[in-house]
Amino acid sequence: MKTSAEWKALSESVALQGQAFIKGQFQDAVSGETFPAINPATAAKLADIASCDAADVDLAVEAAREAFASGVWSDLSPGDRKRALLRLADLVERHADELAVLDSLDMGKPIAEMVSIDVPDSIDCLRWTAESIDKLYGEIAPTGHDTLGLIRHEPVGVVAAITPWNYPLMMATWKIAPALAAGNSVVLKPSEKSALSALRLAGLAKEAGIPDGVFNVLPGFGHTAGKALALHNEVSVLAFTGSSRVGGLLMEYAGQSNLKRVWIEAGGKSPMLVFEDCEDIEKAASTAAAAIFSNQGEVCIACSRLYVQSSIRERFTGALLEAAKTYQPQDPLDPETRMGALVDKTQLETVARYIQSAIDEGGRVLAGGVPEAVAGQGYFVEPTIIGDARNSMRFVQEEIFGPVLAVGEFSDEAEAIRLANDNRYGLGASVWTGNLSRAHRVSRKIQSGMIWVNGWGGGDSTMPFGGMKASGYGRDKSLHSLEKYTDIKTVWINL
Ligand code: NAD
Repeated sequence: MKTSAEWKALSESVALQGQAFIKGQFQDAVSGETFPAINPATAAKLADIASCDAADVDLAVEAAREAFASGVWSDLSPGDRKRALLRLADLVERHADELAVLDSLDMGKPIAEMVSIDVPDSIDCLRWTAESIDKLYGEIAPTGHDTLGLIRHEPVGVVAAITPWNYPLMMATWKIAPALAAGNSVVLKPSEKSALSALRLAGLAKEAGIPDGVFNVLPGFGHTAGKALALHNEVSVLAFTGSSRVGGLLMEYAGQSNLKRVWIEAGGKSPMLVFEDCEDIEKAASTAAAAIFSNQGEVCIACSRLYVQSSIRERFTGALLEAAKTYQPQDPLDPETRMGALVDKTQLETVARYIQSAIDEGGRVLAGGVPEAVAGQGYFVEPTIIGDARNSMRFVQEEIFGPVLAVGEFSDEAEAIRLANDNRYGLGASVWTGNLSRAHRVSRKIQSGMIWVNGWGGGDSTMPFGGMKASGYGRDKSLHSLEKYTDIKTVWINL
């Protein structure tokens, strides 16, 4: 890995592309408006980003629709689309350091996480999905002998993808890889807080030979570009990752327009349950710290609610506090850094408000505390652990999206399950036990889309990623992700 000085040098020389990418060209927003991209570690401006709105959405969707209708991509054989996407994966790999620096600068993530998680995961998602597309077969229905019933999976047309800022490159590839592999055209709207890597990806897609109009990127705000995309009648599928609140709005927009299919991957408030028969308390404690402090807690699957069996609470908390000390917020471009800066001042203020509310409701600060924004400096928050947490407290129920851990306790398995499920979200859950039967029993009872036993965050391109309840119902990755971007067509042939 590069040294701190080498990452800094790259951050000073890397090109920052802020224009929209429509029909294979980088261009300004029709209005000419821009907004600043801010480096949250320094509060300094990085670049001007095109502020796209409904006029740009019309251009991009029209380009995507035309490209789809022309068959330049949609009519390619799956094998040809595979080869183009594999070229894109190779280019992402060749430009890995550049992409790593862009996201780290744009949203404050430690460069070490970009290098070990975001970039390799994005490459793997592109390659795995590309490789899968020419290995899928259609079906023939068991009809009578005088008919032939074909069940085909066809691309839907124009897919709009709206993504968040916490894993900018990775969330973009989780959407575009299956959508493009299936033969669709795509308009991607990255978060206004982190558009740089998506725009770089657009340039690489062109270099990889993905035809003009097939992949477009529109930076802009949610209430302008995002809303116009969601309301557009030529968009057939809307794939979203972000907050549950905005997910709900998108479902309304679909109802007000063309009943486009909307796939929601939303927020979380994931529990971690540590039973007294856990075989490695130290490992569980260090994983509990990683599960809330990595990426500054700005992780949809962050285990922000920790419940420990009463008999081991004291020992576990001691180990947890030791582990938390290794997550001091520092310069994201230093490869030793394990916790960077929060994405912006608003996020820092939100986190501060939740910590204060935890204190007001009787929570006991065991580490960290209420942060303050200091003018002209970055948005850094200490890893914060609040004990005596109860499910009736607001900070235990709501998604904070910052490095704040609520620690509560339970007496037996039934109470652990009840506490874990007593929340509107259902994205992930982590269960620590040495008892195999308990691992299965608890995994079955917890209302979450993903359960990790004796670990947290595990998963690769072969496993679907997504939640239940207010965490949404969309699934990224695996062959199941392709189902989101295809229609079923039946052909009944009289013989
Ligand atoms: P957000 O909902 O504020 O924004 C997400 C995207 O929606 C952005 O691109 C934004 O511009 C756009 N948007 C906002 N308002 C819109 C509107 N009215 N119409 C159309 N688009 C609109 O979320 P965020 O703050 O960017 O991301 C954090 C959230 O994402 C957290 O809740 C986190 O848990 C969630 N998340 C979920 C997953 C998952 O896989 N389930 C993964 C990562 C993040």
